[in-house]
Amino acid sequence: MLSLIYDECNHCCICKESLENGYLCDPCSKKLTLNKEPSYEFLGNHRIRVYSCMYYNNYAKDLILRLKSKKDFSAGEALAKFMINSINDQSIDFHYIIPVPISKEKFKKRGFNQSVFLSRIIGEYFNKEVLDILYINRSVNEQKILTREERLANLSSAFSVNNLYRKKIKGKNILLIDDVITTGATIYNCSMPLIEDCDNYIWVLTVAKSSI
Ligand SMILES: [Zn+2]
Repeated sequence: MLSLIYDECNHCCICKESLENGYLCDPCSKKLTLNKEPSYEFLGNHRIRVYSCMYYNNYAKDLILRLKSKKDFSAGEALAKFMINSINDQSIDFHYIIPVPISKEKFKKRGFNQSVFLSRIIGEYFNKEVLDILYINRSVNEQKILTREERLANLSSAFSVNNLYRKKIKGKNILLIDDVITTGATIYNCSMPLIEDCDNYIWVLTVAKSSI
């Protein structure tokens, strides 16, 4: 019986303090600066609503890097928990979850896409399908040889929606998941093909927002 209880003990993924449940102890949790404000105005498009769970301080950065660079999936679980709380707090209403894709090079290096990982935990919790159907157009990598005008045009078609899924998601509310939002360019560029090709409304949820 005791060993069963001990086996079920978790540890805080930052300080390793043992916990009865969850992934972060209270003192470590308190070092994160949670954000409850929506960033509606952020991208200037009424079809895109942006939320971030917390500000990108050193503790948020640490948790995100543990997941991305060290494959510390308990840190990822802790982050996903914050995202689930935000979805509930903000009454985010969505049909499908779409993770922001990463480049093939990053995927090879990291072995997984952190946004897919977070999306799957959220999808399981809310019983919603995760559709990993956005992809990066190859031309984005060849921007250096383009003029400024060409580069802007190129950027607006940086991502595409897999053709096979366009009908399925047409007119639906999409929850777009990413780890960090900085300028919002990635989110905007991911949202554009969804809005233009599939008539979607986009809820964006990121773990953290950075002002850098
Ligand atoms: Zn701790």
